[in-house]
Amino acid sequence: MNTTDYIALENKYGAHNYKPLDVVIKRGKGVWVKDVEGKKYMDFLAAYSALNQGHCHPRLVKVMKKQSKKLALTSRAFRNDQLPLLAKELCKLTGYDMMLPMNSGAEAVETAIKAARKWGYKIKKVPRNKAEIIVCDGNFHGRTITIISFSPEDQYKDGFQPLTKGFKMVPYGDIAAFEEAITENTVAFLVEPIQGEGGVIVPPKGYLKKASQLCKEKNILLIADEIQSGLGRTGKLFAYEHEHVKPDMVTIGKALSGGMYPVSAVLSSSEILGVFNPGDHGSTYGGNPLACAIARKALKIIVDEKLSERSAKLGKYLMERLKKIDSKHVDFYRGEGLWIGIVLKKESGGARRFCEALMERGLLCKETHVNVIRLAPPLVITKKEIDWALERIENVLTML
Ligand SMILES: *Cc1c(COP(=O)(O)O)cnc(C)c1O
Repeated sequence: MNTTDYIALENKYGAHNYKPLDVVIKRGKGVWVKDVEGKKYMDFLAAYSALNQGHCHPRLVKVMKKQSKKLALTSRAFRNDQLPLLAKELCKLTGYDMMLPMNSGAEAVETAIKAARKWGYKIKKVPRNKAEIIVCDGNFHGRTITIISFSPEDQYKDGFQPLTKGFKMVPYGDIAAFEEAITENTVAFLVEPIQGEGGVIVPPKGYLKKASQLCKEKNILLIADEIQSGLGRTGKLFAYEHEHVKPDMVTIGKALSGGMYPVSAVLSSSEILGVFNPGDHGSTYGGNPLACAIARKALKIIVDEKLSERSAKLGKYLMERLKKIDSKHVDFYRGEGLWIGIVLKKESGGARRFCEALMERGLLCKETHVNVIRLAPPLVITKKEIDWALERIENVLTML
């Protein structure tokens, strides 16, 4: 079977809820992947930062093999010997008291929303059914009905109504708008420290800091969604560290397993996660021993291979080199660490054709929000590999 055959099969039997680039990948190792035709590409998207550790990291392959032979699933009806160790290691690494394990990112966000509401009723004493959560314009937090209920994207909501109530949207980066939206029933502010799907949008300096102060003053939980920005992507373990704040709750996912398995979690204080009693919330696969063993190793790789530091250093280098490219298409660049949005001018006809041209030259990127090319390579990338990618980016930005 060739590329065309695979695409035809997928189009016939798979729902069309995505529009992927037409490359059918068969193998991956580190930053490199190979398609079914035998063509090699560099992956400059890293599964939206799930592959910070690179494709098929040998230590992750090894632990997955080993643990899958021992024990894969118990459900939470029984205990397993991996969850306690992941919980402890994650809390020690991040400075939080407790974690609650789930599978997908959306489930972690759902969990944080449930915790915030329950905290609101039980501890803040908000009147029954009145809890409000403030979110930001441009947000992306996942695809469940509740989460899309506060999405700014009409397409994400169209046809899926009725939606979940209790959310209020304010402009991202606008602290006055946030303050104005607060009422006595506000229980939480859910925010991405840097917006990923929104187009790698970095808010004004001091925004998160001020938001955090306001949350403290008004007894509101600050929930940082670090599912894409966290675990090294921005040059720190968490993007919120750039602003020296400590959110009340953090959602993580994606790189928590280095691309091996769906694993997500919510981190928080024992007061907040303590609102859950047995039976209040759960997941059959959440906290399974295979997931936990993989996540433990994925975190260890981030620390051992200094992936946050690499992202800071190499991200700075990539940004400096990009800014030297003389292209009539580029409006500006933004980002933090190895996470950069190339914002194209309106008249350049959208980012998709640039991503397709990059693909032809062996570099896989994905456009976001029509005009932005998002660069987010695995953090294990080397300087030499970045140079290889830069040649292709420069070529496309100056030739097209
Ligand atoms: C990807 C993402 C999610 C959703 O994660 P899934 O695993 O796709 O459900 C939530 N929040 C942010 C910021 C994300 O980037």
